[in-house]
Amino acid sequence: MSRDPSHILQSVFGYPKFRGDQSAIIEHVLNKRDALVLMPTGGGKSLCYQVPALCMEGLTIVISPLIALMQNQVEALRQLGVKAAALNSAHSQEEQFAIRDALKRGKITLLYIAPERLFAARFIDFLSSLEIALFAIDEAHCVSQWGHDFRPEYLKLSILHELFPNVPRIALTATADAPTQKDIIERLNLEYGRVFNSGFDRPNIQYRITEKKNAYNQLVSFIKNTHAQDSGIVYCMSRRKVEQIAEKLVNEGFTALPYHAGLTSDRRFQNQERFLKEDKIIMVATIAFGMGIDKPDVRFVAHLDLPKNLEAYYQETGRAGRDGLPATAWLAFGHQDIVKIRQLLGENLSQEQRQIEHQKFTALLGYCETIECRRRVLLDYFGEKRQEDCGNCDNCLNPADIHDATEAAQLALSCMYRTGQLYGVGHIIDVLLGADTEKIKNSGHDKLPLYGKGNDLKRPEWQSLIRQLLSLGYIATDLEGYGSLKLQEKCRPLLKGDERFAVRKFEFKKKGSTKTREILLENPEEEALFDQLRALRLELAKKQNIPPYVIFHDKTLLEMVQARPSSLSEFGLIPGVGEVKTEKYGPLFLELLSA
Ligand code: ADP
Ligand code: ZN
Repeated sequence: MSRDPSHILQSVFGYPKFRGDQSAIIEHVLNKRDALVLMPTGGGKSLCYQVPALCMEGLTIVISPLIALMQNQVEALRQLGVKAAALNSAHSQEEQFAIRDALKRGKITLLYIAPERLFAARFIDFLSSLEIALFAIDEAHCVSQWGHDFRPEYLKLSILHELFPNVPRIALTATADAPTQKDIIERLNLEYGRVFNSGFDRPNIQYRITEKKNAYNQLVSFIKNTHAQDSGIVYCMSRRKVEQIAEKLVNEGFTALPYHAGLTSDRRFQNQERFLKEDKIIMVATIAFGMGIDKPDVRFVAHLDLPKNLEAYYQETGRAGRDGLPATAWLAFGHQDIVKIRQLLGENLSQEQRQIEHQKFTALLGYCETIECRRRVLLDYFGEKRQEDCGNCDNCLNPADIHDATEAAQLALSCMYRTGQLYGVGHIIDVLLGADTEKIKNSGHDKLPLYGKGNDLKRPEWQSLIRQLLSLGYIATDLEGYGSLKLQEKCRPLLKGDERFAVRKFEFKKKGSTKTREILLENPEEEALFDQLRALRLELAKKQNIPPYVIFHDKTLLEMVQARPSSLSEFGLIPGVGEVKTEKYGPLFLELLSA
């Protein structure tokens, strides 16, 4: 016997219709077939197994590596009136016993479990005595060594298929390039299943990169101008910088908290809890922060330092806007940072591995300096070809000031050639600018005809130009250690004058608004109401000690402001409300809405 998915979607989750592939995936799973679901963060993966769980008889087991995330999901489901529980290493013997007991009595519909729990102490035998409807394997990329977060326990999951041949399995992930996808299918024996690939684009995230001048001031004005009322994450490279920036932001009047591996675990836990449970918190963090944080309303992710490659950048920025509302990924890019990171890259790695790391870093730099649509460049890197510009990145919104730099590029290339392709950026620029250094005297490069011919440009402009020649593949640096610049095949037509070369001037004239409120709320009165609803939500959340978004997402509150329900039945129709929440929270929210 099974219940109708659309009905469950409306009555339990309060959403009017399925999104993208959800409906097809759910039908597939209800037909007891295996599936691999590739969907971007915030795409709506959870419903792909939660709805079937509620449609079918028996228990759905959700395998997830992230304990914090598990707990959140369980809380969110309980708020909807769904019988959900989690079993992980944080539970005591008694708690585990109680959960087993509830399972035996069929009192649980969804069980979240960490893989090591699943295989511990004959739990699998115990499961065999229950009626199992579905296995959901979340963060499925953890099964692959190609993935960025390999977990050996995940390998054992292949035996589920042998032990429960008739129970369908659905594996889900938001980050898997082609080799990782293949690996997941093989290792989990999903060959007879179907792959649902929705691509990885995050259309609601606006990508913005600004040239670093005074990075801290730029950050502050970015936050004040676009995200003054919002929560966000600011990534820095070092612990010390995290502390400094957090402190400065606090002095500036923001609520900012530090997070890095050097803090005690208590302190980290507290800061993370506050980030999840309060509004308008800025988390200043090293990359130690973020795994397993599925706060849906992170409105911005700002990078004050360069990530080490585009995978890291995509994953870190991907923590913004999981709820699908407008969000910003902002990065301050400074040429002076490049050297610093290059030095750190691949410490302790083999020569070959180091080379890969450097190439990946160069791809990131290419992305930072591109004058093309950033989303196209990003998706292209992940193997997705796009024909159209996105209209939601800085380059689309405010096309960069481009100027023709063909002659300058030719001059720089000639200079590299004339000096035997043996020198790094510094010396090449010295020659172009006619500098008077030891190295120049010793090398006799002051005798070259192009010595001092580059005075039309300043040093930073030459640096930028050479960077762009590098990131676009006209030249390459040797990786053996001297950083000497070598001409590549690609520069031939440019040198011959068959091709022009344009570069960006780093200057943004206009601002593209990503203020969620500005876009979605019509007037100050609506903004005030939205703030009141948020305050009520926060109060209710505090009483239950749960994050506010577990009660209602921002999106749901915005819908309330727009729809202005005046009765419980109208309230129940707001997307994201559902029956249980109508009963539980409807009256309180209606009071504000009808005031
Ligand atoms: P993922 O796990 O893919 O990152 P989630 O499952 O957490 O994403 O879903 C992201 C957000 O989208 C959640 O707030 C969820 O409630 C919402 N959502 C999912 N499916 C729908 C739908 N069909 N209609 C409206 N909202 C949805
Ligand atoms: Zn674009």
